[in-house]
Amino acid sequence: MQQVYNFAAGPAVLPQPVLQQVKDEFLSYHNSGMSITEISHRSSLFQDIIDDAEKTLRDLMQIPDDYAVLFVQGGGSQQFTEVPLNLGTDNVAYIDTGNWSKKAIAEAQKFPSLKVTTLASSEATHNTTIPSVPPVSANYDYVHITTNNTIEGTTYFDLPNVGENVLVGDMSSNILAQRYNVQDFGLIYAGAQKNIAPAGLTIVIVRRDLIGKKKGLPAMLDYGLQSAKGSLYNTPPVFNIYMAGLVFHWLEDCGGVDEMEKVNRAKAKILYDYLDQSKLFSAPVKPAFRSLTNVPFVTGNAAMDQKFITAATEANLLNLKGHRLVGGMRASLYNAMPITGVTKLVHFMAEFEQGEK
Ligand SMILES: *Cc1c(COP(=O)(O)O)cnc(C)c1O
Repeated sequence: MQQVYNFAAGPAVLPQPVLQQVKDEFLSYHNSGMSITEISHRSSLFQDIIDDAEKTLRDLMQIPDDYAVLFVQGGGSQQFTEVPLNLGTDNVAYIDTGNWSKKAIAEAQKFPSLKVTTLASSEATHNTTIPSVPPVSANYDYVHITTNNTIEGTTYFDLPNVGENVLVGDMSSNILAQRYNVQDFGLIYAGAQKNIAPAGLTIVIVRRDLIGKKKGLPAMLDYGLQSAKGSLYNTPPVFNIYMAGLVFHWLEDCGGVDEMEKVNRAKAKILYDYLDQSKLFSAPVKPAFRSLTNVPFVTGNAAMDQKFITAATEANLLNLKGHRLVGGMRASLYNAMPITGVTKLVHFMAEFEQGEK
């Protein structure tokens, strides 16, 4: 098999040892004679899988017992609806840091009973920064942030001070890639397909006292019900939860989140250092806010960008095209992207630049 490096933003690269293990045990999970895709979600085989996945995630992220961990479906996008549905009573607040924040805000605005306030926005800097937030005194049901802006390439390294308000984080593209203190949040959610597992699974980590209070919510969207049923109210995405568990163990084997953050910082530094001295390519995001997991870069010339993407693809450096909203290129450097992928990319970019002189 040819060696490629997949820089896609999501679905994204998964750890090779995990894919190998999935392959090895695909036809007969734990000598059951059945594939993981054939076993009942009510079987003890699966109960062990979901319990183990939850326990390993709790260890990795140091999730306290007063938080529930939910394995649900619908992607990050469904959480844009579930958060206001479950936690909103009258006033909710958002910090706008780009496309995914805007989508979250738009969904909250569909609730006629909610007043939606945007506390700060990065729009004035074309989303190349994380805005500072004026003191938040009012009593919001929650303040929502996007911890990593997958499209624009910005990240919160310091969380905003939201006072007594509950902080909600869309962590879809940097969960487990850098350390956050779970207790700083009332709720964290993440679609799995960026850094955890195949598309189709969403992780929700929520303080138990925040859920189960509202009555009459649609069952599938009710955190309280999902928590009470141990994420088994209906058939969960069995295969994805199994793979998530394997990825969590792989991450443990790599030394856990703190060790992975060190590697991710080293990976990102290699690319940003090159970009900052390049005469052809540049990184639009201000240094203090540069994402470890999603690195946009440009030449400033759309035809040159395309020429680069085509050449990189031929060199097995795949999926470097930037999001259609921002153009240019984007290299996603999730946990499963090895450091050699980044050094190969930078080497290739330097050669390309030399050829364009
Ligand atoms: C990808 C992404 C989403 C949307 O995820 P889906 O699972 O496709 O709904 C939401 N927020 C962020 C930050 C993302 O990166």
